[in-house]
Amino acid sequence: MRTMPGGQTATAETDFDALAATALTRCDTVAECTDEPGRITRTFLSPAMERCNRVVQEWMQAAGMVVNVDRAGNLRGYYSASSEAAPRLIIGSHLDTVPNAGRYDGVLGVMLGIGLVEALAGRRLCFGIEVIGFSDEEGVRYGLPFIGSRAVTSTLLAPHLARRDAAGVAMYAALDRFQAAHPDAIDPELDARARAYLEFHIEQGPILEHAGLALGVVETIAGQSRATITFQGKSGHAGTTPMFLRRDALAAAAEWLTAVESAASRMPGLVATTGRISCEPDAANVIPGLVRCSLDVRHADDVIRRAAVEDFLCRAEAIGVRREIEVEHVLEFEQAAVGLDLALVKLADRAVSDIGISPRHMTSGAGHDAMIMAAHVPSVMIFLRSPGGISHHPDEAVYAGDIAAALRAGMSFLEGFEAHLEQFSESERKSCTI
Ligand SMILES: [Zn+2]
Repeated sequence: MRTMPGGQTATAETDFDALAATALTRCDTVAECTDEPGRITRTFLSPAMERCNRVVQEWMQAAGMVVNVDRAGNLRGYYSASSEAAPRLIIGSHLDTVPNAGRYDGVLGVMLGIGLVEALAGRRLCFGIEVIGFSDEEGVRYGLPFIGSRAVTSTLLAPHLARRDAAGVAMYAALDRFQAAHPDAIDPELDARARAYLEFHIEQGPILEHAGLALGVVETIAGQSRATITFQGKSGHAGTTPMFLRRDALAAAAEWLTAVESAASRMPGLVATTGRISCEPDAANVIPGLVRCSLDVRHADDVIRRAAVEDFLCRAEAIGVRREIEVEHVLEFEQAAVGLDLALVKLADRAVSDIGISPRHMTSGAGHDAMIMAAHVPSVMIFLRSPGGISHHPDEAVYAGDIAAALRAGMSFLEGFEAHLEQFSESERKSCTI
């Protein structure tokens, strides 16, 4: 038995394994809410998202939360504290998916939030817990990720709202329709009493599995650069043009790709990917004249990332000069790295240590709602091991034992959060002494 937040005590009888099994079953149930029969697809404000919200809302209410949907379609369950003015901890993730998705990306983080409230078994803490199921993180419908968390942080702007989906429906029109159907929807704001954001998420990569760890603590979300590199050579007959007279754009691009791969491999934490390549004229008996390659570069340190991109572009230029190939590039997108809150990272470290897992700090290579939230409220993420590192795929999986570990660590986090709040105002501290 140990002291729990709110001065209460919890017996060792909290059945985390049962709560983990419930979370898994709920992920299965949510997976049935899909826009495409036979595979899991839930996009922003779609009929499947409506059904998903209704189902998750029932679980939130049964756990003792007051539930609202906000005008951006985010599902928001509030488990009240011992006093109205008490600070709040937000636990959230997203309920939308990529097309043909797995069943745990995002959804599991929301289920863990609900599971933690259930583990409290009605005990009230000195801080409230808001569980948010964000309506869009993947950005499938509007080609813009994080719509849900942008709305909550008041960073969903006019150019975003003017975007149109594949059917030509502008986002503001979709939101108008949603709001007409939900006249009771609340403002999509961050509550002024919010003091922290915690997000559980599957890792979506192989690092924790490789390290034999169930959980990891995310301290940084990697910054990202995207570019397109064009190699312009000269097409020619594959049979009549001798090798020494060729200006083969694809051979130049291939040399560059392997140079990038080996340079990136030498820099710890750096990842560089060319996932898309087009070749013209794309015929078996013609020397390639024009090749376009995508480049995606990520690192936790923006200086290292920018230097790497510069280096890769210089290498392309040098290869071009040597091979008489014109090389051009367009930098299309840049996103700075986001550091998560140091104090909360420490708190998460302790929570993970408390259950016997040595804390492993990680950089998230993927973007998450925490990336948006972190600019507005101190934020931290805890990753759960992804078997096989598989995600954005129907084979996405998670171990029940890892979910139980996440729930145990989550309870420990709640305990530590009480002490953490002491750095805040006198009145908030008072609300913690019930
Ligand atoms: Zn996700």
